[in-house]
Amino acid sequence: MQVYNAPLRDMRFVMHELHNSAAHVAEIGQPDVTEELMDSILEEAGKFATDVLLPINASGDEEGCRLENGVVRTPKGFVEAYRKFCEAGWGALSSPVEYGGQGLPEVLGKMVEEMQCSANLSFGLYPGLTHGATLTLEGHGTEELKRRYLPKMIDGTWSGTMCLTEAHCGTDLGMMRSKASPQADGSYKINGAKIFISAGEHDLTENIVHLVLARMDGAPKGIKGVSMFLVPKFIPNDEGRPGARNGVTCTAIEHKMGLKASATTQLYFDDATGWLVGEAHKGMRAMFTMMNAERLSVGIQGLGVAETAYQSAAFYAKDRIQGRALSGARHPDRAADPIIVHPDVRRSLMTVRAYVEGCRALSGWVATSLDLESKASDPQRRQEAEDFTALMTPVVKALFTDLGFELSSMALQVYGGHGYIRDHGMEQLVRDARICMIYEGANGIQALDLVGRKMPAHMGRFLRQFFHPVQAFIEANAADPKVLPLAKSFAALQQATAHIATMSLKDPEEAGAAATDYLRLMGLVALGFMWAKAAKVAEAKLPEANGDAGFYKAKLTTAQFFADRLLPQTGALWSAIRAGKASMMELEEAAF
Ligand SMILES: Cc1cc2nc3c(=O)[nH]c(=O)nc-3n(C[C@H](O)[C@H](O)[C@H](O)COP(=O)(O)OP(=O)(O)OC[C@H]3O[C@@H](n4cnc5c(N)ncnc54)[C@H](O)[C@@H]3O)c2cc1C
Repeated sequence: MQVYNAPLRDMRFVMHELHNSAAHVAEIGQPDVTEELMDSILEEAGKFATDVLLPINASGDEEGCRLENGVVRTPKGFVEAYRKFCEAGWGALSSPVEYGGQGLPEVLGKMVEEMQCSANLSFGLYPGLTHGATLTLEGHGTEELKRRYLPKMIDGTWSGTMCLTEAHCGTDLGMMRSKASPQADGSYKINGAKIFISAGEHDLTENIVHLVLARMDGAPKGIKGVSMFLVPKFIPNDEGRPGARNGVTCTAIEHKMGLKASATTQLYFDDATGWLVGEAHKGMRAMFTMMNAERLSVGIQGLGVAETAYQSAAFYAKDRIQGRALSGARHPDRAADPIIVHPDVRRSLMTVRAYVEGCRALSGWVATSLDLESKASDPQRRQEAEDFTALMTPVVKALFTDLGFELSSMALQVYGGHGYIRDHGMEQLVRDARICMIYEGANGIQALDLVGRKMPAHMGRFLRQFFHPVQAFIEANAADPKVLPLAKSFAALQQATAHIATMSLKDPEEAGAAATDYLRLMGLVALGFMWAKAAKVAEAKLPEANGDAGFYKAKLTTAQFFADRLLPQTGALWSAIRAGKASMMELEEAAF
């Protein structure tokens, strides 16, 4: 049995105490979004996750999706859960009010998203992709397309997809073959075959709106000849209801390692009618709006799964009895002590906990930045926030999803053989978490994005939005020994940054060889910064905490664990980066 109750106390800590939600909502012009309002929404979202989504997680995995006569049937309970999801307005939480959304801050929206990923990752993908599609349409669609599609997508009546991948091109989308031919009425005929399309066909909504990348007739070769089109499953009629069936069909569903209740489809576009979104040949610009939103969301998927893995493992470790504590029996009345007494089990639990809480804190910081980028009144603040989000997007995507898998596996270990068999649902978490490292741009590609694009952008301007606050914090707390590990790790990050910047000018393969280690190094420093700040907050609150003292003490201990046992990995990463590409690139291809 998977154990999940929304970590409301920690979420409130991150939003209100660490990232000062009161000042934040004032800055984004939403002072009416009070702490009480946010807390009550979190509480309801937590109940929805535990009561509605969690109970169909393991059964959804067992049953999977089925393709019947071109229609995909989701597992038992999914249609009903989706109806409740839409009725409660969960999909519209942070969407624009203009199109029927609730316009609430992302700092709240991302917490709710995390809960859905924790309780049922497969389910979360359906509304998650729709949310990304609405952002893209809002940013790049014509007024007519927005008016016609956005309200239905935001209220969940219609869902969205992103259709990029083809059998011969995943990472290298410049090789795309799908075609778009202009029609006299301004629309396009889309032809081609896409694979691996999440939520490409299902029975949750009355219509599905595909955002499809294709190449217009006569377009330039490569990625600069790719455009984006909106292709609905049913073309809306004059009343805005699903009308004529469009030429897009689901030819197969993929049989995969995990995420079995999420329909991963093969779609065939046969003279399907579509409309251009954004400018001709600039499809990647529009798609990046969706991909960036999705990359942050996929990072939160990793975090969400790791939280459930943690709660489940902590529950089991207190229940399962094996052996005696090394310091002497703790429960002499029982046949053995619970396994939580063993240092190695503690090591696993503390590691998962420290990463999960650190990632939540970082996710909260990035979410405030998402709000500022669209809602701050000062243009400079908006630009700074945009720079920070751009820098952190690959870090959140790759770090959180690598951790999602590593930590679920570590939590499974706490169950021993009982984690490997299906009964407890731990192996599902490991299988589900694995895909997050691959889709939305495999994690190796995220690392290249960080090193090749984000790091050098505008002469290091993006980096400043991260380096300056860390530097300022370290200087302000120079006398505090607890901040020393962060200062050492930050120094390693600065040296690695300068080293890669110099080496990559001489040899781009050096940057490629360093990329993944550099991303982890930056990610660890970001988590170290979050933990050091969290410790400061906890320390200040503890004397007056009364009933909450246990929470703040645990924060301080977990912060110490992170600084002692996890942050020092930055030293090894910097060594690996310094070693360069030589031993990695030397062997001839034939030697492999
Ligand atoms: C369950 C699931 C759901 C998905 N959902 C969607 C969806 O909704 N829409 C959609 O369009 N796609 C979707 N995908 C596709 C997914 O985004 C791709 O699988 C992914 O982008 C990688 O592409 P690929 O599989 O072709 O791998 P490849 O591009 O062949 O890459 C293979 C490996 O080589 C590495 N690599 C490739 N090029 C480079 C390079 N230049 N430098 C360094 N390393 C490199 C990659 O990191 C990867 O590890 C989904 C896939 C799955 C399995």
